[in-house]
Amino acid sequence: MFSRFAHLVCTRCGATYERDRKMNVCAQCGGALFPRYHLHALDRDAVAGRARTIWRWHELMPVEEKENVVTLGEGGTPLLRADRLGARFGFRDLWIKDESGNPTGSFKARGLSAAVSKAKELGHSKIALPTAGNAGGAAAAYAAKAGMECHVFMPADTPPVFRVECERYGAKVTLVDGLIDDCGRMVAANAAKEGWHDVSTLKEPFRVEGKKTMGYELAEDLGWTLPDAVLYPTGGGTGLIGMWKAFDEMEELGWIDAKRPRMFAIQAEGCAPIPKAFAEGKDVSEKFPNAHTYASGLRVPKAFADYLILKDVRASGGSAVTVTDDEMRRACDEIGANEGLFVAPEGGAVWAAAKNLLAQRLLGEDERIVLFNTGSGFKYL
Ligand SMILES: *Cc1c(COP(=O)(O)O)cnc(C)c1O
Ligand SMILES: [Zn+2]
Repeated sequence: MFSRFAHLVCTRCGATYERDRKMNVCAQCGGALFPRYHLHALDRDAVAGRARTIWRWHELMPVEEKENVVTLGEGGTPLLRADRLGARFGFRDLWIKDESGNPTGSFKARGLSAAVSKAKELGHSKIALPTAGNAGGAAAAYAAKAGMECHVFMPADTPPVFRVECERYGAKVTLVDGLIDDCGRMVAANAAKEGWHDVSTLKEPFRVEGKKTMGYELAEDLGWTLPDAVLYPTGGGTGLIGMWKAFDEMEELGWIDAKRPRMFAIQAEGCAPIPKAFAEGKDVSEKFPNAHTYASGLRVPKAFADYLILKDVRASGGSAVTVTDDEMRRACDEIGANEGLFVAPEGGAVWAAAKNLLAQRLLGEDERIVLFNTGSGFKYL
């Protein structure tokens, strides 16, 4: 069978829904929905001979017919040892999962490949979404590949490259005087009337499935073990939540043991709803006032699935911390000069945070630490 997709389950109230139902959020409580799979009798070596894209894990993805897969070759990114950078700053087992080589220049490709494929399978012909930058380009590219209409809403002060990219892929872009949550409200207000399928992250069940594949790749590349710590630049938190889901799925499949990395959610000082809620011991975040940072992927003042980010970070024994934009810039230079990677500011953010966490002894110098560089520096010139 191409997919082991079983049904949808609400992450908040536990309600379940049939897998062929067109859904956004839980009809009972408005929570985020997760796909669940039949997780038994699947050999991890079954994937060995397959191409290194997110579809390598197709049994654990929600698309049921192979013909519906919309792919541009996303995923299968390198996990690189960062020995020179590590040695200069006191880390002995430092790694960078470099997502910059994905189609459209960021790991948003993973999520949108999954969401657009499943949208095609369910018969949607128009998608719409709010974006702080990279999600729009990825959605537009996969919609183009699928022959779908794509409507992108982005803050008017988003760097022009993100708008130009969407338009090049044939999407209709609306610039909004506000932040990503204001854009999200505009999508929601128009979706029913216009016949758009809203693919806002975690307000549909499948982008998280594309991003969870980072967790599968991490385990496979480390010989079916997981690192001691993962540092993740957190906007909507989809990748962090998705990897945590992947770890649970892999354990249930018998592919890995119960050991988990400590998950660190990294945000910018100018937009830090998750570190704030984490420090205050809260289960949900409040909208962060005056949100600003040049790392556009981190400019999410209130994540829809904040309750999942906070739950997973706490369950892992990790933390949520901030860095400044200046620290990010310096960190990007250090990664570039030591490792030959032209990283996005979001990638710089996690490296800046790693140094701070080492100084605070929240990371150990002998620990195996994986930093996520989630995008290419070329878009931020
Ligand atoms: C969207 C984005 C993020 C945040 O990703 P989430 O999974 O939504 O938290 C981080 N970095 C870049 C480059 C992004 O585009
Ligand atoms: Zn619910």
